[in-house]
Amino acid sequence: MAKHIFVIGGVLSSLGKGIASSSIGLLLKKMGYKVVMQKFDPYLNVDPGTMSPFQHGEVFVTDDGAETDLDLGHYERFIGIPLTRNSNSTSGQIYEKVLTKERRGDYLGKTVQVIPHVTDEIKQLIRDIAHDKDIVITEIGGTVGDIESLPFLEAIRQFRLEVGPENTLFVFLTYVPYIAAAGELKTKPTQHSTTKLREIGIQPDILLCRSEKPFNDEIRSKIALFTNVQKSRVINAIDVETIYEVPRVYMQANLHEKICEHFHLQQNRIDFSDWDRIIDNIKNPDQEVIIAVCGKYVEHQDAYKSVGAALIHAAADGRFKLNIRWVDSEKTFSQKDIEKELAGVDGILIPGGFGVRGIEGKIAIARYARENRIPYFGICLGMQIAVIEYARNICALPDAHSSEFRESSGNPVIHLMEDQKYIAKMGGTMRLGAYPCQLKQDSLAWRIYRKELISERHRHRYEVNNSYRDILEKNGMKISGLSPDNILVEIVEIPDHPFFIGVQFHPEFKSRPDCVQPIFREFVKTAAELRYK
Ligand code: GLN
Repeated sequence: MAKHIFVIGGVLSSLGKGIASSSIGLLLKKMGYKVVMQKFDPYLNVDPGTMSPFQHGEVFVTDDGAETDLDLGHYERFIGIPLTRNSNSTSGQIYEKVLTKERRGDYLGKTVQVIPHVTDEIKQLIRDIAHDKDIVITEIGGTVGDIESLPFLEAIRQFRLEVGPENTLFVFLTYVPYIAAAGELKTKPTQHSTTKLREIGIQPDILLCRSEKPFNDEIRSKIALFTNVQKSRVINAIDVETIYEVPRVYMQANLHEKICEHFHLQQNRIDFSDWDRIIDNIKNPDQEVIIAVCGKYVEHQDAYKSVGAALIHAAADGRFKLNIRWVDSEKTFSQKDIEKELAGVDGILIPGGFGVRGIEGKIAIARYARENRIPYFGICLGMQIAVIEYARNICALPDAHSSEFRESSGNPVIHLMEDQKYIAKMGGTMRLGAYPCQLKQDSLAWRIYRKELISERHRHRYEVNNSYRDILEKNGMKISGLSPDNILVEIVEIPDHPFFIGVQFHPEFKSRPDCVQPIFREFVKTAAELRYK
Protein backbone atom coordinates (compact mmCIF):
# COMPACT_ATOMS: atom_id res chain seq x y z
CA MET A 1 0.00 0.00 0.00
CA ALA A 2 0.98 3.62 -0.48
CA LYS A 3 2.64 5.50 2.33
CA HIS A 4 0.88 8.69 3.44
CA ILE A 5 2.51 11.90 4.57
CA PHE A 6 0.23 14.56 6.06
CA VAL A 7 1.52 18.10 6.27
CA ILE A 8 -0.17 20.24 8.90
CA GLY A 9 0.54 23.84 9.84
CA GLY A 10 0.77 25.49 13.24
CA VAL A 11 1.38 28.88 14.89
CA LEU A 12 0.46 31.11 11.96
CA SER A 13 -0.39 31.07 8.29
CA SER A 14 2.00 31.88 5.43
CA LEU A 15 4.77 29.64 6.75
CA GLY A 16 4.99 27.97 3.38
CA LYS A 17 3.23 24.67 3.88
CA GLY A 18 2.85 24.36 0.13
CA ILE A 19 6.57 24.76 -0.42
CA ALA A 20 7.37 22.43 2.49
CA SER A 21 5.07 19.74 1.06
CA SER A 22 6.47 20.22 -2.43
CA SER A 23 10.05 20.02 -1.19
CA ILE A 24 9.36 16.72 0.53
CA GLY A 25 7.73 15.56 -2.70
CA LEU A 26 10.78 16.48 -4.75
CA LEU A 27 13.21 14.63 -2.46
CA LEU A 28 11.11 11.47 -2.47
CA LYS A 29 10.65 11.64 -6.22
CA LYS A 30 14.39 12.03 -6.60
CA MET A 31 14.79 8.88 -4.51
CA GLY A 32 12.82 7.08 -7.20
CA TYR A 33 9.41 6.90 -5.55
CA LYS A 34 6.12 7.50 -7.36
CA VAL A 35 4.74 10.55 -5.59
CA VAL A 36 1.38 12.27 -5.82
CA MET A 37 0.21 15.34 -3.95
CA GLN A 38 -3.11 16.59 -2.72
CA LYS A 39 -4.43 19.65 -0.92
CA PHE A 40 -7.48 20.03 1.27
CA ASP A 41 -8.78 23.57 1.56
CA PRO A 42 -10.96 24.14 4.63
CA TYR A 43 -13.04 27.00 3.16
CA LEU A 44 -16.64 26.45 2.13
CA ASN A 45 -16.41 27.69 -1.46
CA VAL A 46 -17.34 24.89 -3.81
CA ASP A 47 -15.49 26.39 -6.74
CA PRO A 48 -12.02 27.91 -6.17
CA GLY A 49 -12.33 29.31 -9.70
CA THR A 50 -14.74 31.99 -8.55
CA MET A 51 -12.59 33.26 -5.69
CA SER A 52 -11.11 36.75 -5.91
CA PRO A 53 -7.44 36.85 -6.87
CA PHE A 54 -7.16 39.90 -4.61
CA GLN A 55 -7.96 37.75 -1.61
CA HIS A 56 -6.87 34.34 -2.61
CA GLY A 57 -4.16 34.71 -5.23
CA GLU A 58 -4.01 32.99 -8.56
CA VAL A 59 -6.39 30.27 -9.67
CA PHE A 60 -4.15 27.45 -10.87
CA VAL A 61 -5.42 25.31 -13.75
CA THR A 62 -4.58 21.64 -14.31
CA ASP A 63 -4.44 19.79 -17.63
CA ASP A 64 -7.87 18.32 -16.97
CA GLY A 65 -9.32 21.79 -16.53
CA ALA A 66 -9.73 22.00 -12.76
CA GLU A 67 -9.51 25.48 -11.26
CA THR A 68 -7.55 24.96 -8.09
CA ASP A 69 -5.64 26.50 -5.23
CA LEU A 70 -2.31 28.03 -6.17
CA ASP A 71 -0.43 25.52 -4.03
CA LEU A 72 -0.96 22.97 -6.78
CA GLY A 73 1.28 25.20 -8.87
CA HIS A 74 4.07 24.74 -6.32
CA TYR A 75 3.49 21.00 -6.30
CA GLU A 76 3.77 20.73 -10.07
CA ARG A 77 6.80 23.01 -10.23
CA PHE A 78 8.65 20.94 -7.64
CA ILE A 79 7.67 17.38 -8.41
CA GLY A 80 7.34 17.99 -12.13
CA ILE A 81 4.27 15.79 -12.50
CA PRO A 82 0.98 17.08 -13.90
CA LEU A 83 -1.78 16.78 -11.33
CA THR A 84 -5.52 16.45 -11.84
CA ARG A 85 -8.69 17.69 -10.21
CA ASN A 86 -8.34 14.88 -7.67
CA SER A 87 -5.49 16.79 -6.09
CA ASN A 88 -7.60 19.60 -4.65
CA SER A 89 -10.76 19.46 -2.58
CA THR A 90 -12.48 22.13 -0.54
CA SER A 91 -14.76 21.65 2.46
CA GLY A 92 -17.49 23.12 0.27
CA GLN A 93 -17.08 20.34 -2.30
CA ILE A 94 -17.00 17.66 0.37
CA TYR A 95 -20.10 18.98 2.12
CA GLU A 96 -21.83 19.30 -1.23
CA LYS A 97 -21.17 15.63 -1.89
CA VAL A 98 -22.49 14.62 1.52
CA LEU A 99 -25.60 16.80 1.16
CA THR A 100 -26.33 15.45 -2.33
CA LYS A 101 -26.18 11.92 -0.93
CA GLU A 102 -28.46 12.96 1.89
CA ARG A 103 -30.99 14.44 -0.58
CA ARG A 104 -30.83 11.27 -2.62
CA GLY A 105 -31.63 9.24 0.43
CA ASP A 106 -28.34 7.35 0.41
CA TYR A 107 -28.05 7.55 4.18
CA LEU A 108 -31.39 5.77 4.65
CA GLY A 109 -32.68 8.23 7.20
CA LYS A 110 -29.68 8.06 9.49
CA THR A 111 -28.51 11.23 11.23
CA VAL A 112 -25.95 12.79 8.90
CA GLN A 113 -22.95 14.07 10.86
CA VAL A 114 -19.44 15.46 10.45
CA ILE A 115 -18.19 12.26 12.05
CA PRO A 116 -18.50 9.81 10.33
CA HIS A 117 -20.05 11.10 7.10
CA VAL A 118 -17.85 14.06 6.30
CA THR A 119 -14.72 12.37 7.63
CA ASP A 120 -15.52 9.24 5.59
CA GLU A 121 -15.65 11.34 2.41
CA ILE A 122 -12.29 12.88 3.27
CA LYS A 123 -10.69 9.48 3.89
CA GLN A 124 -12.11 8.24 0.59
CA LEU A 125 -10.43 11.14 -1.24
CA ILE A 126 -7.13 10.19 0.39
CA ARG A 127 -7.54 6.56 -0.64
CA ASP A 128 -8.66 7.41 -4.18
CA ILE A 129 -5.55 9.37 -5.04
CA ALA A 130 -3.21 6.71 -3.67
CA HIS A 131 -3.90 4.26 -6.47
CA ASP A 132 -0.65 3.13 -8.14
CA LYS A 133 1.50 5.45 -6.05
CA ASP A 134 4.30 4.82 -3.56
CA ILE A 135 3.82 7.99 -1.58
CA VAL A 136 0.89 10.39 -1.16
CA ILE A 137 1.54 13.81 0.33
CA THR A 138 -1.61 15.46 1.65
CA GLU A 139 -1.45 19.07 2.74
CA ILE A 140 -4.14 20.22 5.15
CA GLY A 141 -4.91 23.88 4.52
CA GLY A 142 -5.33 26.34 7.38
CA THR A 143 -3.68 26.34 10.79
CA VAL A 144 -4.23 24.11 13.79
CA GLY A 145 -6.84 25.75 16.00
CA ASP A 146 -9.05 26.82 13.10
CA ILE A 147 -12.57 25.49 13.40
CA GLU A 148 -12.69 24.78 9.65
CA SER A 149 -9.73 22.38 9.58
CA LEU A 150 -11.07 20.15 12.33
CA PRO A 151 -12.89 17.59 10.11
CA PHE A 152 -9.70 17.09 8.06
CA LEU A 153 -7.54 16.61 11.13
CA GLU A 154 -10.09 14.21 12.58
CA ALA A 155 -10.15 12.29 9.28
CA ILE A 156 -6.37 11.86 9.20
CA ARG A 157 -6.34 10.83 12.84
CA GLN A 158 -8.82 8.08 11.96
CA PHE A 159 -6.87 7.23 8.85
CA ARG A 160 -3.74 6.47 10.87
CA LEU A 161 -5.73 4.26 13.15
CA GLU A 162 -7.01 2.32 10.14
CA VAL A 163 -3.78 1.86 8.18
CA GLY A 164 -1.23 1.98 10.98
CA PRO A 165 1.57 4.34 12.00
CA GLU A 166 4.07 2.58 9.70
CA ASN A 167 2.00 3.78 6.73
CA THR A 168 1.34 7.33 7.89
CA LEU A 169 3.57 10.22 8.88
CA PHE A 170 2.46 13.49 10.43
CA VAL A 171 4.70 16.43 9.57
CA PHE A 172 3.99 19.60 11.51
CA LEU A 173 5.26 22.93 10.24
CA THR A 174 5.73 25.55 12.96
CA TYR A 175 7.49 28.81 13.62
CA VAL A 176 10.21 29.68 16.10
CA PRO A 177 10.32 33.48 16.19
CA TYR A 178 13.40 35.52 17.05
CA ILE A 179 12.54 38.19 19.58
CA ALA A 180 15.03 40.98 19.16
CA ALA A 181 14.32 42.59 22.56
CA ALA A 182 15.20 39.34 24.32
CA GLY A 183 17.85 38.41 21.77
CA GLU A 184 16.38 34.92 21.72
CA LEU A 185 14.51 32.39 19.63
CA LYS A 186 11.24 31.50 21.32
CA THR A 187 9.85 27.98 21.37
CA LYS A 188 6.56 28.66 23.17
CA PRO A 189 4.38 29.12 20.06
CA THR A 190 5.61 25.74 18.78
CA GLN A 191 4.94 24.11 22.14
CA HIS A 192 1.41 25.50 22.33
CA SER A 193 0.55 24.71 18.78
CA THR A 194 1.74 21.13 19.14
CA THR A 195 -0.29 20.80 22.33
CA LYS A 196 -3.33 21.95 20.37
CA LEU A 197 -2.67 19.27 17.78
CA ARG A 198 -2.20 16.59 20.42
CA GLU A 199 -5.48 17.59 22.06
CA ILE A 200 -7.26 16.36 18.97
CA GLY A 201 -5.32 13.15 18.96
CA ILE A 202 -2.49 13.85 16.56
CA GLN A 203 1.06 13.44 17.76
CA PRO A 204 3.41 14.84 15.09
CA ASP A 205 6.22 12.54 13.95
CA ILE A 206 8.38 15.25 12.48
CA LEU A 207 8.56 18.96 13.21
CA LEU A 208 9.71 21.41 10.61
CA CYS A 209 10.48 24.57 12.54
CA ARG A 210 10.77 27.69 10.44
CA SER A 211 13.14 30.29 11.87
CA GLU A 212 15.03 33.31 10.69
CA LYS A 213 18.16 32.28 12.56
CA PRO A 214 19.52 28.77 13.05
CA PHE A 215 18.80 27.24 16.43
CA ASN A 216 21.20 25.41 18.72
CA ASP A 217 21.06 22.05 20.39
CA GLU A 218 19.52 23.45 23.53
CA ILE A 219 16.52 24.82 21.64
CA ARG A 220 16.14 21.57 19.74
CA SER A 221 16.13 19.59 23.00
CA LYS A 222 13.59 21.93 24.51
CA ILE A 223 11.26 21.65 21.54
CA ALA A 224 11.63 17.86 21.50
CA LEU A 225 10.85 17.59 25.20
CA PHE A 226 7.75 19.74 25.10
CA THR A 227 6.34 18.38 21.86
CA ASN A 228 7.10 14.72 22.49
CA VAL A 229 8.94 14.45 19.17
CA GLN A 230 12.30 12.68 18.94
CA LYS A 231 15.10 15.23 18.96
CA SER A 232 16.54 13.99 15.68
CA ARG A 233 13.17 14.64 14.07
CA VAL A 234 13.01 18.29 15.07
CA ILE A 235 14.23 19.95 11.92
CA ASN A 236 15.29 23.55 11.67
CA ALA A 237 13.82 24.90 8.45
CA ILE A 238 15.92 28.00 8.28
CA ASP A 239 14.97 30.93 6.01
CA VAL A 240 16.57 30.79 2.59
CA GLU A 241 17.00 33.19 -0.32
CA THR A 242 14.92 31.28 -2.84
CA ILE A 243 12.15 28.72 -2.36
CA TYR A 244 14.07 26.31 -4.59
CA GLU A 245 16.64 26.00 -1.80
CA VAL A 246 14.13 24.59 0.66
CA PRO A 247 14.52 20.97 -0.50
CA ARG A 248 18.29 21.43 -0.17
CA VAL A 249 17.90 22.50 3.45
CA TYR A 250 15.70 19.47 4.17
CA MET A 251 18.16 17.20 2.45
CA GLN A 252 21.03 18.53 4.52
CA ALA A 253 18.95 17.82 7.62
CA ASN A 254 18.42 14.25 6.30
CA LEU A 255 14.68 14.65 6.28
CA HIS A 256 14.37 12.23 3.36
CA GLU A 257 16.23 9.56 5.30
CA LYS A 258 14.08 10.05 8.36
CA ILE A 259 10.95 9.68 6.27
CA CYS A 260 12.24 6.45 4.69
CA GLU A 261 13.29 5.15 8.09
CA HIS A 262 9.78 5.75 9.43
CA PHE A 263 8.16 3.96 6.50
CA HIS A 264 10.83 1.22 6.28
CA LEU A 265 11.53 2.28 2.71
CA GLN A 266 14.83 1.86 0.97
CA GLN A 267 17.02 4.99 1.18
CA ASN A 268 18.10 5.63 -2.37
CA ARG A 269 20.75 8.17 -3.22
CA ILE A 270 19.58 11.57 -4.43
CA ASP A 271 21.22 13.35 -7.33
CA PHE A 272 20.55 16.99 -6.61
CA SER A 273 23.00 18.46 -9.09
CA ASP A 274 20.38 19.85 -11.50
CA TRP A 275 18.62 21.73 -8.71
CA ASP A 276 21.93 22.92 -7.28
CA ARG A 277 22.68 24.45 -10.66
CA ILE A 278 19.32 26.24 -10.68
CA ILE A 279 19.85 27.54 -7.14
CA ASP A 280 23.33 28.74 -8.07
CA ASN A 281 21.99 30.52 -11.16
CA ILE A 282 19.31 32.28 -9.12
CA LYS A 283 21.72 33.31 -6.38
CA ASN A 284 24.66 34.29 -8.53
CA PRO A 285 23.31 35.85 -11.70
CA ASP A 286 25.44 37.65 -14.23
CA GLN A 287 23.46 40.43 -15.89
CA GLU A 288 20.23 42.11 -14.96
CA VAL A 289 17.00 42.04 -16.95
CA ILE A 290 13.98 44.21 -16.16
CA ILE A 291 10.55 42.84 -17.05
CA ALA A 292 7.41 44.91 -16.59
CA VAL A 293 4.33 42.91 -15.62
CA CYS A 294 1.30 45.10 -16.25
CA GLY A 295 -2.01 44.19 -14.69
CA LYS A 296 -4.62 45.27 -12.23
CA TYR A 297 -3.74 42.91 -9.38
CA VAL A 298 -0.11 44.04 -9.07
CA GLU A 299 -0.47 44.95 -5.40
CA HIS A 300 -1.33 41.30 -4.79
CA GLN A 301 1.46 39.46 -6.49
CA ASP A 302 0.09 36.07 -5.48
CA ALA A 303 -2.46 36.75 -8.21
CA TYR A 304 0.37 36.25 -10.71
CA LYS A 305 2.16 33.45 -8.86
CA SER A 306 2.83 31.18 -11.85
CA VAL A 307 3.77 34.09 -14.13
CA GLY A 308 6.30 35.25 -11.53
CA ALA A 309 7.59 31.70 -11.12
CA ALA A 310 7.96 31.16 -14.88
CA LEU A 311 9.91 34.43 -15.17
CA ILE A 312 12.20 33.30 -12.35
CA HIS A 313 12.80 29.97 -14.13
CA ALA A 314 13.51 31.71 -17.41
CA ALA A 315 15.90 34.19 -15.81
CA ALA A 316 17.67 31.41 -13.92
CA ASP A 317 18.09 29.50 -17.15
CA GLY A 318 19.99 32.40 -18.71
CA ARG A 319 21.67 33.30 -15.40
CA PHE A 320 20.02 36.72 -15.47
CA LYS A 321 19.21 38.74 -12.40
CA LEU A 322 15.46 39.16 -12.69
CA ASN A 323 13.94 42.46 -11.77
CA ILE A 324 10.16 42.45 -12.13
CA ARG A 325 8.57 45.89 -12.30
CA TRP A 326 4.90 45.59 -11.35
CA VAL A 327 2.92 48.18 -13.28
CA ASP A 328 -0.66 48.98 -12.32
CA SER A 329 -2.55 49.22 -15.59
CA GLU A 330 -5.38 51.11 -13.93
CA LYS A 331 -3.08 53.98 -13.09
CA THR A 332 -0.92 53.87 -16.19
CA PHE A 333 -2.52 54.92 -19.39
CA SER A 334 -1.46 58.45 -20.38
CA GLN A 335 1.56 58.54 -22.63
CA LYS A 336 3.46 60.40 -19.91
CA ASP A 337 2.68 57.79 -17.26
CA ILE A 338 3.57 54.96 -19.58
CA GLU A 339 6.91 56.48 -20.52
CA LYS A 340 7.67 57.06 -16.85
CA GLU A 341 6.57 53.66 -15.59
CA LEU A 342 8.14 51.70 -18.40
CA ALA A 343 11.39 53.65 -18.71
CA GLY A 344 14.30 51.26 -18.96
CA VAL A 345 12.31 48.02 -19.05
CA ASP A 346 13.63 45.27 -21.33
CA GLY A 347 10.39 43.39 -21.81
CA ILE A 348 6.69 43.92 -21.24
CA LEU A 349 4.36 41.15 -20.15
CA ILE A 350 0.59 41.53 -19.93
CA PRO A 351 -0.83 38.55 -18.05
CA GLY A 352 -4.36 37.15 -17.95
CA GLY A 353 -7.24 38.99 -16.37
CA PHE A 354 -10.97 39.55 -16.28
CA GLY A 355 -13.11 42.66 -16.28
CA VAL A 356 -12.83 46.08 -17.80
CA ARG A 357 -10.71 47.80 -15.15
CA GLY A 358 -7.30 48.82 -16.45
CA ILE A 359 -8.09 47.75 -20.02
CA GLU A 360 -7.35 51.03 -21.77
CA GLY A 361 -4.04 51.23 -19.88
CA LYS A 362 -3.12 47.76 -21.13
CA ILE A 363 -4.01 48.66 -24.71
CA ALA A 364 -1.83 51.77 -24.51
CA ILE A 365 1.01 49.71 -23.02
CA ALA A 366 0.77 47.12 -25.82
CA ARG A 367 0.97 49.95 -28.34
CA TYR A 368 4.00 51.35 -26.57
CA ALA A 369 5.73 47.95 -26.75
CA ARG A 370 4.89 47.56 -30.42
CA GLU A 371 5.96 51.05 -31.46
CA ASN A 372 9.12 51.11 -29.39
CA ARG A 373 10.12 47.60 -30.42
CA ILE A 374 10.25 46.38 -26.83
CA PRO A 375 9.78 42.59 -26.45
CA TYR A 376 6.12 41.93 -25.69
CA PHE A 377 4.51 38.83 -24.28
CA GLY A 378 0.72 38.82 -23.95
CA ILE A 379 -0.95 36.00 -22.08
CA CYS A 380 -4.64 35.30 -22.57
CA LEU A 381 -6.12 38.75 -21.90
CA GLY A 382 -2.68 40.10 -22.86
CA MET A 383 -3.07 38.44 -26.26
CA GLN A 384 -6.59 39.81 -26.71
CA ILE A 385 -5.27 43.27 -25.83
CA ALA A 386 -2.57 42.96 -28.52
CA VAL A 387 -5.23 42.06 -31.10
CA ILE A 388 -7.48 44.97 -30.10
CA GLU A 389 -4.53 47.38 -30.22
CA TYR A 390 -3.44 46.15 -33.62
CA ALA A 391 -6.95 46.36 -35.03
CA ARG A 392 -7.42 49.88 -33.71
CA ASN A 393 -4.10 51.39 -34.67
CA ILE A 394 -2.90 49.39 -37.67
CA CYS A 395 -6.06 47.99 -39.25
CA ALA A 396 -7.86 51.34 -38.94
CA LEU A 397 -10.69 50.00 -36.79
CA PRO A 398 -10.70 52.64 -34.04
CA ASP A 399 -13.72 51.12 -32.29
CA ALA A 400 -12.24 47.62 -32.14
CA HIS A 401 -12.83 46.01 -28.77
CA SER A 402 -13.68 42.82 -26.97
CA SER A 403 -17.36 42.17 -26.40
CA GLU A 404 -16.37 41.38 -22.82
CA PHE A 405 -15.82 45.09 -22.32
CA ARG A 406 -18.18 46.71 -24.78
CA GLU A 407 -21.21 44.69 -25.79
CA SER A 408 -22.09 46.93 -28.69
CA SER A 409 -18.66 47.44 -30.18
CA GLY A 410 -18.82 48.11 -33.91
CA ASN A 411 -15.81 45.84 -34.34
CA PRO A 412 -15.76 43.07 -31.75
CA VAL A 413 -12.39 41.58 -32.71
CA ILE A 414 -12.60 39.47 -29.55
CA HIS A 415 -15.97 37.90 -28.83
CA LEU A 416 -17.93 34.90 -27.63
CA MET A 417 -18.37 32.30 -30.36
CA GLU A 418 -21.86 31.16 -31.25
CA ASP A 419 -21.57 27.77 -29.57
CA GLN A 420 -20.09 29.47 -26.51
CA LYS A 421 -23.10 31.73 -26.24
CA TYR A 422 -25.12 28.56 -26.04
CA ILE A 423 -22.84 27.09 -23.37
CA ALA A 424 -22.95 30.40 -21.49
CA LYS A 425 -26.72 30.19 -21.37
CA MET A 426 -26.38 26.75 -19.90
CA GLY A 427 -24.24 28.09 -17.08
CA GLY A 428 -20.79 26.78 -18.13
CA THR A 429 -18.63 29.34 -19.82
CA MET A 430 -14.92 28.86 -19.72
CA ARG A 431 -12.56 27.04 -21.98
CA LEU A 432 -10.53 25.25 -19.32
CA GLY A 433 -7.53 22.96 -19.30
CA ALA A 434 -5.23 21.55 -21.94
CA TYR A 435 -5.98 22.06 -25.64
CA PRO A 436 -3.77 21.27 -28.61
CA CYS A 437 -2.41 24.01 -30.81
CA GLN A 438 -0.84 23.62 -34.22
CA LEU A 439 2.05 25.93 -35.05
CA LYS A 440 2.83 27.44 -38.43
CA GLN A 441 6.32 26.89 -39.67
CA ASP A 442 8.43 29.96 -40.22
CA SER A 443 7.07 31.75 -37.17
CA LEU A 444 8.44 32.91 -33.85
CA ALA A 445 6.26 30.33 -32.12
CA TRP A 446 7.78 27.56 -34.25
CA ARG A 447 11.30 28.76 -33.51
CA ILE A 448 10.46 28.80 -29.81
CA TYR A 449 8.78 25.40 -29.51
CA ARG A 450 10.58 23.62 -32.38
CA LYS A 451 7.61 21.37 -33.01
CA GLU A 452 4.31 21.39 -34.79
CA LEU A 453 1.83 20.35 -32.16
CA ILE A 454 1.86 21.75 -28.66
CA SER A 455 -0.52 21.52 -25.72
CA GLU A 456 -1.10 24.32 -23.25
CA ARG A 457 -3.66 25.12 -20.58
CA HIS A 458 -6.54 27.52 -21.01
CA ARG A 459 -8.82 29.57 -18.80
CA HIS A 460 -10.92 32.10 -20.67
CA ARG A 461 -14.27 32.73 -22.29
CA TYR A 462 -13.60 35.01 -25.21
CA GLU A 463 -11.85 34.16 -28.49
CA VAL A 464 -10.46 36.01 -31.48
CA ASN A 465 -13.34 36.73 -33.86
CA ASN A 466 -12.68 34.77 -37.04
CA SER A 467 -14.30 37.45 -39.21
CA TYR A 468 -11.28 39.63 -38.49
CA ARG A 469 -8.56 37.10 -39.23
CA ASP A 470 -8.17 38.30 -42.81
CA ILE A 471 -7.88 41.97 -42.03
CA LEU A 472 -5.41 41.33 -39.19
CA GLU A 473 -3.24 39.14 -41.42
CA LYS A 474 -3.42 41.49 -44.40
CA ASN A 475 -2.13 44.22 -42.14
CA GLY A 476 0.83 42.19 -41.01
CA MET A 477 -0.24 40.37 -37.85
CA LYS A 478 0.69 36.71 -38.08
CA ILE A 479 -1.61 34.05 -36.74
CA SER A 480 0.99 31.44 -35.97
CA GLY A 481 -0.95 29.04 -33.78
CA LEU A 482 -4.43 27.61 -34.31
CA SER A 483 -6.50 24.79 -32.90
CA PRO A 484 -5.94 21.73 -35.14
CA ASP A 485 -9.41 22.27 -36.69
CA ASN A 486 -8.38 25.85 -37.59
CA ILE A 487 -11.25 27.36 -35.69
CA LEU A 488 -9.60 28.90 -32.67
CA VAL A 489 -6.79 31.43 -32.84
CA GLU A 490 -4.21 30.46 -30.27
CA ILE A 491 -1.13 32.57 -31.08
CA VAL A 492 -0.58 35.91 -32.77
CA GLU A 493 2.69 37.65 -33.47
CA ILE A 494 4.12 40.66 -35.28
CA PRO A 495 6.92 39.42 -37.52
CA ASP A 496 8.30 42.91 -38.06
CA HIS A 497 9.23 43.31 -34.40
CA PRO A 498 12.14 41.91 -32.35
CA PHE A 499 9.75 39.82 -30.21
CA PHE A 500 6.02 40.29 -30.10
CA ILE A 501 3.82 37.36 -29.21
CA GLY A 502 0.36 36.90 -27.75
CA VAL A 503 -1.01 33.53 -26.68
CA GLN A 504 -4.59 32.66 -25.83
CA PHE A 505 -3.42 30.04 -23.35
CA HIS A 506 -1.54 30.23 -20.04
CA PRO A 507 1.94 28.86 -20.63
CA GLU A 508 3.01 29.89 -17.11
CA PHE A 509 1.18 26.91 -15.62
CA LYS A 510 3.60 24.47 -17.19
CA SER A 511 6.92 26.09 -16.37
CA ARG A 512 9.25 24.31 -13.98
CA PRO A 513 12.65 25.34 -12.72
CA ASP A 514 14.19 22.27 -14.36
CA CYS A 515 12.05 22.48 -17.50
CA VAL A 516 11.53 26.12 -18.37
CA GLN A 517 8.51 27.01 -20.46
CA PRO A 518 9.97 27.88 -23.90
CA ILE A 519 8.11 31.18 -24.56
CA PHE A 520 9.18 32.52 -21.18
CA ARG A 521 12.73 31.36 -21.81
CA GLU A 522 12.99 33.08 -25.21
CA PHE A 523 11.15 36.21 -24.07
CA VAL A 524 13.51 36.82 -21.15
CA LYS A 525 16.55 35.87 -23.20
CA THR A 526 15.63 38.23 -26.04
CA ALA A 527 14.83 41.03 -23.59
CA ALA A 528 18.23 40.60 -21.93
CA GLU A 529 20.10 40.33 -25.22
CA LEU A 530 18.58 43.54 -26.52
CA ARG A 531 19.47 45.30 -23.29
CA TYR A 532 23.14 44.50 -23.66
CA LYS A 533 23.34 44.88 -27.41
N1 GLN B 1 -11.18 37.86 -19.80
C1 GLN B 1 -10.69 37.17 -20.93
C2 GLN B 1 -11.59 36.03 -21.34
O1 GLN B 1 -12.41 35.58 -20.59
C3 GLN B 1 -9.28 36.66 -20.68
C4 GLN B 1 -9.20 35.64 -19.59
C5 GLN B 1 -7.80 35.43 -19.09
O2 GLN B 1 -6.92 36.23 -19.34
N2 GLN B 1 -7.57 34.36 -18.36
O3 GLN B 1 -11.52 35.53 -22.43
